[in-house]
Amino acid sequence: MSIADFYSNLGEEVKSGKIPHVITSGQGAYLTIDGKEKLNFCSSHYLGLAEDERIKKAVCEAVEKYGMGTGYRTLAGTHVLHIQAEEALARFKGAEATILLTGGYLANCAAIQTIVSKEDIVISDELNHASIIDAIRLSQVKNKLIYKHLDMGELEERLKEAKQLQNTPKEDGSKPLILIVTDGVFSMDGDLAPLPQIVKLAKEYEALTMVDDAHGEGVLGRGGRGIVDHYNLHGQVDIEVGTLSKAFSVMGGFITGKKVLIDFYKQKSRQFLFSNALTIADTAAVLEVVKILEESDELVKKLWDNTDYLRTELKKLGFDTGNSQTPITPVMMGDEDLAKEFSVKLFELGVFASPIVFPMVAKGKARIRIIPSAAHSKKDLDFGIESFSGVGRELKVIS
Ligand SMILES: *Cc1c(COP(=O)(O)O)cnc(C)c1O
Repeated sequence: MSIADFYSNLGEEVKSGKIPHVITSGQGAYLTIDGKEKLNFCSSHYLGLAEDERIKKAVCEAVEKYGMGTGYRTLAGTHVLHIQAEEALARFKGAEATILLTGGYLANCAAIQTIVSKEDIVISDELNHASIIDAIRLSQVKNKLIYKHLDMGELEERLKEAKQLQNTPKEDGSKPLILIVTDGVFSMDGDLAPLPQIVKLAKEYEALTMVDDAHGEGVLGRGGRGIVDHYNLHGQVDIEVGTLSKAFSVMGGFITGKKVLIDFYKQKSRQFLFSNALTIADTAAVLEVVKILEESDELVKKLWDNTDYLRTELKKLGFDTGNSQTPITPVMMGDEDLAKEFSVKLFELGVFASPIVFPMVAKGKARIRIIPSAAHSKKDLDFGIESFSGVGRELKVIS
């Protein structure tokens, strides 16, 4: 291919791609696009903290005191706020220790690549998040075994296969490691990994367990402590990955687990060693979020009340809202064009809710995914529900 063709092909791809809406406000219950207010029905700010005054204040004070930049953690970038944030997250999650990274994506990469080598074995749910898939690729593991979504029978089959594979020792003579990895909450459907069964099987077959709690933190468990707390499995899941970009409304990722494992990550993880640390602003924000959540579960309660109300009303209208066990609320459309048209019509009415289509979900399973938040009042939700009702009837999704 000539260089000219290369760029021209890129151009064709770009033309058929999606251009995101540009937001000119903060992200509360509403946001502003093209000068118009839209109901914010699809961001992952579950607890409505993106514009929280307490967080703004904590960030301003920290930046006033320390500025913004930090550095590489192992060189000259470990700030006392990083240490405090790691301690706060470990305490919040009920784990021994935490390592902070600059994203959930990176945290997944660090969590897997650092401990899994070519000759180990990874067992993964077929619907795991792209960052887990990439993390497994990065580890270059040869034996990657996939099980059908949530299917514990198949997981056990894969574990039996893994046991067989373990009979061949690694080059250094040791036994290959088995790691089972799953999303905690699956972000397209809102369903939960059956963690108690996974932990039980892992014990039986001597496997390590890892859960990605991106959509569980701030949402599940007592006061939003996440999926491990939800199932009361403290200390029984080896690796918990979290993101600070969803309910926490900041940015960054982290891994929690036993202290020795976290110390190992801090010494060996390439994502930690060769990438800069969180800024002062982000780190101060994380500390404030944990403080807010430890003081009160009011926001988590509001999120769930809003979720129950929204889902009940949508179901009453005749919408299919899938099998979600979390605030993630898929409104099933099936057809991709229908989902896109539905979203455009909602937008015209003042509701921002993006369509989710292939490859994010399987063909024929297109949907509008609503994420309610603690920032929504009942009036906001009613406006959203009315809009869904109107468009639903117009497009004959409901009768
Ligand atoms: C959003 C998400 C991530 C990525 O987190 P970032 O902090 O945005 O990099 C990882 N895993 C899951 C399941 C997610 O939903």
